[in-house]
Amino acid sequence: MGQSMSCGARPEHEIFASVQRGDIVTVRRAITADPSVLRQTTAYDRHSLLHVAAASGHIEVLSFLLERSSNPDMLNRHKQTPLMLAAMHGRISCIKKLAQVGANVLMFDSVNRRTCLHYAAYYGHADCVQAILSAARSTPVALHWGYARFVNLRDDKGATPLHLAARQRSPDCVNALLDSGSLVCASTSLYWSPGSTALHLAARSGSIDCVRKLLAWGADRLQRDGSGKIPYVVAMKYKHGACGALLNPSSAEPLVWPSPLKFISELNEEAKLLLEQALMDANMEREKAILNGTDYSLPSPPPSFSDTASDDDNMSEMSDSELCCICFEQVCTIEVKDCGHQMCAQCTLALCCHNKPNPTTSTVTPPVCPFCRSVIARLVVAQKNNKDDRSNSQDEVGDVSSSKLRKHRKSINLGEEGSSFMGLSSIGSFGKVTGRGSGRITADNELMNKPIS
Ligand SMILES: [Zn+2]
Ligand SMILES: [Zn+2]
Repeated sequence: MGQSMSCGARPEHEIFASVQRGDIVTVRRAITADPSVLRQTTAYDRHSLLHVAAASGHIEVLSFLLERSSNPDMLNRHKQTPLMLAAMHGRISCIKKLAQVGANVLMFDSVNRRTCLHYAAYYGHADCVQAILSAARSTPVALHWGYARFVNLRDDKGATPLHLAARQRSPDCVNALLDSGSLVCASTSLYWSPGSTALHLAARSGSIDCVRKLLAWGADRLQRDGSGKIPYVVAMKYKHGACGALLNPSSAEPLVWPSPLKFISELNEEAKLLLEQALMDANMEREKAILNGTDYSLPSPPPSFSDTASDDDNMSEMSDSELCCICFEQVCTIEVKDCGHQMCAQCTLALCCHNKPNPTTSTVTPPVCPFCRSVIARLVVAQKNNKDDRSNSQDEVGDVSSSKLRKHRKSINLGEEGSSFMGLSSIGSFGKVTGRGSGRITADNELMNKPIS
């Protein structure tokens, strides 16, 4: 896949060497003297100057060439566009520039019939995946072709960009794609042969980070591949024991992002980040419990929210009024609109994941505010209430008594609603409150019924 950009030493190809070096002065001089140079291609791969500039990431040269080219989508020998080569080599600024001048994201190479999105996912460039997705959102692709269809396009082996990202062990790409509508349970099936899901491919590559992301997006641990294996069996076959432990159907179910809830899909970026982090933290705790007692330990240090030492550090910087009245452990970061009640991200998430979809309709009943019982329509990031609170919290920095007071409150201040929610906010029950699926099946089916390509 990764073709070299060698251009040979023939005089007419000196221009390619200059483009590859990013030598804007020489390139400018050569093209001003003879504009036909723009149409030259390399001898074997038939790369244009645009291809070479995009692949080597020289944005200044690329911009100069684009000003003088009428077609940003020139094709090389393998029908690859400059956009594909930029995605392959992770040249984010070149991708943005090409998108800006209207380069087509919906082109297919002749190697594997892949798009630029496949390239970015395969080579693990999450920033490029994002840039291509945002370009696709605002181009005719989205209008005439369908954005969801673009995200889930299959190559000639039936692999979507998500399959490639999972296979190539790129959790950030997996996340970006799932967040943009990649179907988590799609399998590589093409024509008659059923294939693997992204979870099978992540299990095979032994990427625990990809396994974790996929499970959190509702990937099915019981889905079988073409040979009838579930992902757990695939992980064990390739001796990825830690992945296998998480994929074992008898292990606790992870929390699944409650995407069917309308207000979850409408979250602003800030609130979404908070809740996503809470989800990953909760699942990390679950993983620790699963892996504890096995030979495997987590490769990355678990997040610190359950770490008492750092909790105390956080505690000293907040006032009691900011403490979540459900768990009495975390700071209130999420506010329910319009009643204004506040909770921590963990408790909000537990509340949302608690509602299982109706098995017959697959619809999800939106949860109610635990304080006033009004149906939650919108969540925002909690703002500090007033200036007094802020000055209080500054006064309390380093004040030992405030933390004692908090513990006291924690022991006595269990209102009716509070006590019924304590169970929800404890990590141990997180696994039980979530059902597999959460309604995503409907979305899958809607799309799967349409021809993909
Ligand atoms: Zn809480
Ligand atoms: Zn309320």
